[in-house]
Amino acid sequence: MKCIIIGGSHAGVAAARALKILDPRIDVTLIEKNQTLAFISSGINLVSKGIIQKLEEAHNYSPKELTDLGVKVLLSTEVLKIEKNEIKVICTMINDGSTITQELPYDFLIAAIGSTPAIPLSLTSEKKDILTYKSFNESAFALDRIKKAKKIALIGLGFVGMEFADTWMKEKELFLIDRRDYPLAGYFDEEFIRPILSNIPNNVTFNLNTTVKKIDKDKKTGTYTLTFHSNEKISNVDLIVSTSSSLPNSQLLEGLVDLNFDHTVSVNDYLQTSIENIYAVGDLLEKPLFSTQLEIGGVFKPLVSQAQRSGFVAAYNIYSNNQLPYQSSNRTIATTFGEYYLASSGMTEIDTIIYKRKCVSVTKEISVDGGETLKLQLMFEKGTNILLGAELLTTSKILVELINLLSLMIQTKMDIFDIIQSDFYFQPEFTSYARYLQQIALESLPAIG
Ligand SMILES: Cc1cc2nc3c(=O)[nH]c(=O)nc-3n(C[C@H](O)[C@H](O)[C@H](O)COP(=O)(O)OP(=O)(O)OC[C@H]3O[C@@H](n4cnc5c(N)ncnc54)[C@H](O)[C@@H]3O)c2cc1C
Repeated sequence: MKCIIIGGSHAGVAAARALKILDPRIDVTLIEKNQTLAFISSGINLVSKGIIQKLEEAHNYSPKELTDLGVKVLLSTEVLKIEKNEIKVICTMINDGSTITQELPYDFLIAAIGSTPAIPLSLTSEKKDILTYKSFNESAFALDRIKKAKKIALIGLGFVGMEFADTWMKEKELFLIDRRDYPLAGYFDEEFIRPILSNIPNNVTFNLNTTVKKIDKDKKTGTYTLTFHSNEKISNVDLIVSTSSSLPNSQLLEGLVDLNFDHTVSVNDYLQTSIENIYAVGDLLEKPLFSTQLEIGGVFKPLVSQAQRSGFVAAYNIYSNNQLPYQSSNRTIATTFGEYYLASSGMTEIDTIIYKRKCVSVTKEISVDGGETLKLQLMFEKGTNILLGAELLTTSKILVELINLLSLMIQTKMDIFDIIQSDFYFQPEFTSYARYLQQIALESLPAIG
């Protein structure tokens, strides 16, 4: 069986590995237009924080790890066309400066061509006035420009934007802009994350609940003036960065398979598109959120964990002839800002309003061993006492791991008593962090009633 995967990022690599692990006889070809596989898009932050030495280290897998499994890896190769009747892809490969066109037949195809950060072009006539980054090349270019800039305006304060701010707030004058009332909205409730905003250095200004109306460039100095809808202005900005949104790269599939209204690819529970031997994965999909609310449909939320999980599911379904439905997402994330680590999984209080769930939310703060703090918000459904969401704020890096346990509790629909009764170990020589969850769940009982 010949299986071609287009796109060698997190979803494509996960699919290629899974296919080879499930059945080494499957002929797997992974096609990637860039020179790197599974590049970590926040690599510029890792370099700047000294976590890695150079951008080249920011990847989850190397080509060798794939070729050792028997995957044929074609780098610097771009798929230009998918022929559904002749069941082949047409691609061009750049080799020693010359371009070679190839036609590769397939039995199954996995589209893993991901998404691209969106540039709000309505604000400026020039694409290059607003910096975005995702691939290795874009990140190398961005790193160079960021290093040279003194005054930076950042549009979009989701977790990608806040990680950017966290990385550069010690060195640069930053203007942090978002149309919402507070950063990280969509993952956290406002009151819960207030503490992270209490200790902001003077060189960082938040411009919240506002949008940029226009951007003007001073041709002499090369700096920008941003005008908000309120007519307030920020002048002499060296660099504008946008982390506000991404768009699925579904152009290659247009007219071939069914797309959704938001240009994501329409798939069934097994990630099969409207053509049965073509599957779509990763950022091409909208994900069904929160297992309890499947009927509301999916949302477009680019996340590495979802990309990897969907890559595996598509591979397994090709191998097993559609035996594994794709599960909904809790939208689990973890990030860091200043001295804090933050994580969330499942519904926020705002989500419970959108999804029409009656909930009780309980927030508890405790001091944990070693003098660190842990603040946890748990959201239980009224009546059933099932855990629907959790938000976590801590000064301890190790405690962030609790969000994965909480995500599992949400996924398996555990109620407050299941959490208190969970069978966790006791060992006096080392700490079981999970016991903090049981402690907080127990203290939440009076509020649940
Ligand atoms: C700055 C930034 C930071 C982020 N940080 C995080 C984070 O910390 N945690 C997290 O969970 N998520 C993060 N994300 C989101 C995450 O990067 C995406 O969800 C993830 O990359 C999706 O993986 P994917 O494999 O679906 O697609 P992509 O990563 O978009 O990859 C698609 C691949 O397909 C290739 N391709 C496209 N078209 C063709 C073609 N025609 N022929 C051949 N190859 C092609 C592209 O070159 C690319 O390598 C971040 C995103 C950005 C922009």
